[in-house]
Amino acid sequence: MDEKKPVNPEEVEYTLKEIRAEQDAKNNQKGFWKKVWSVICWPFRQIKRFVKFVASKIPVPITAKTTIIFTLLFTVALIILDAFIVSSVSNHLQMLGVDDEGYIISLTLTSALLIIISVIVVAALGALASTAMLSPVRKIIKQIDSISADDLSARIDNVDAQDELRELTERINAMLDNLEESFDRQKKFVSDASHELKTPIAVIQGYSNMLLRWGKEDKEVLDESVESIAREADNMKIIVEQLLTLARMGQYMVKSERFDVSQILDELSDSYALVCKTHTVKVSAKKALVNADKNMLTECLRTLVDNAIKYSDEGKTVKISCYDEDGYVKIEVSDEGCGISEDDLPRVFDRFYRCDKARKRNGKGSGLGLTIAKSIVEKMNGTIEAVSEVGVGSTFTVRLPLAE
Ligand code: ADP
Repeated sequence: MDEKKPVNPEEVEYTLKEIRAEQDAKNNQKGFWKKVWSVICWPFRQIKRFVKFVASKIPVPITAKTTIIFTLLFTVALIILDAFIVSSVSNHLQMLGVDDEGYIISLTLTSALLIIISVIVVAALGALASTAMLSPVRKIIKQIDSISADDLSARIDNVDAQDELRELTERINAMLDNLEESFDRQKKFVSDASHELKTPIAVIQGYSNMLLRWGKEDKEVLDESVESIAREADNMKIIVEQLLTLARMGQYMVKSERFDVSQILDELSDSYALVCKTHTVKVSAKKALVNADKNMLTECLRTLVDNAIKYSDEGKTVKISCYDEDGYVKIEVSDEGCGISEDDLPRVFDRFYRCDKARKRNGKGSGLGLTIAKSIVEKMNGTIEAVSEVGVGSTFTVRLPLAE
């Protein structure tokens, strides 16, 4: 049997000392190579600083800057090389006992002349090369100048090179694609919004003109006009409020909190039981946890229930159910209302879309409710869809990822 040896503190101390010494030696070695590397890099760091400084100070085009900087560096290198050659030749002559000052002077002058000539040649060639290489930049600047907010359709020609300039033009073009798309969307939004606001304004104008002419004496005209003006003002208020919500949605950062969807459905049913006396709102929900924005989801479901009530007759029932399926919580809002035709169904989530039947049946509404509901659900990584049958009813289904 193995007998355990008693621990000797001196031996342990000695081993620890050895380990520490080994580590120190390794660290010292690393530190030494770091210092050597830093000394080797020092001149390059200085050159980099110098180039940066010169480039930031000279107010000339980039082609001239690159030419000047490279010519300067080349000149410095040549002067150092020349000084080395002249001094070693003069040392060599001195060692041989030859004192030929004239030869050294002529060698110095000839090499100086050669330096000047080669600097001029290098500067000329450098200028040509950098002009050729950077010519696409001029072209890009010209093409960018021709692009304005009024016409974002122009694009920059792709640079015929496999370098950063090609990447730059591709990125600028991609950015222009996004900008154009968003400008077009914005324009359409403004034109749709003004179109929608035109109708209530025209109605209000018509009734107020009528009031001005005959209304004050005729009680029937007076009542009808005031009622219509109030209704249209209400409509405008809804449209403006929903437009603002939609505009804010773009920047809205959805909150992510863990909650049970069935709980907000119960709260929703309680609140409808209090305020809605014309319809019955029934909830059948199982516990389903999600990570989402509670207020936003409630807002979205409220829109669906409001629509279900708005587009079905008094006494009908609106059913809300909630269960989980394939990692998602499925919330369904079903009604026994007028339904949506096959042609209208794919468009009900479009901005300002209202089915003709809806317009006739219920004057109130902006055609923005479902657009807002859809953008809320999408912000929470969910989906919304509708199935419907005219005269039977509609079911709107919201799917949200279940919390893990
Ligand atoms: P609105 O303010 O007109 O209700 P929405 O964006 O909420 O705007 O709805 C767009 C259109 O979709 C409505 O005008 C209506 O024609 C139709 N719609 C929405 N929900 C229902 C529903 N539950 N039953 C029948 N039609 C509906």
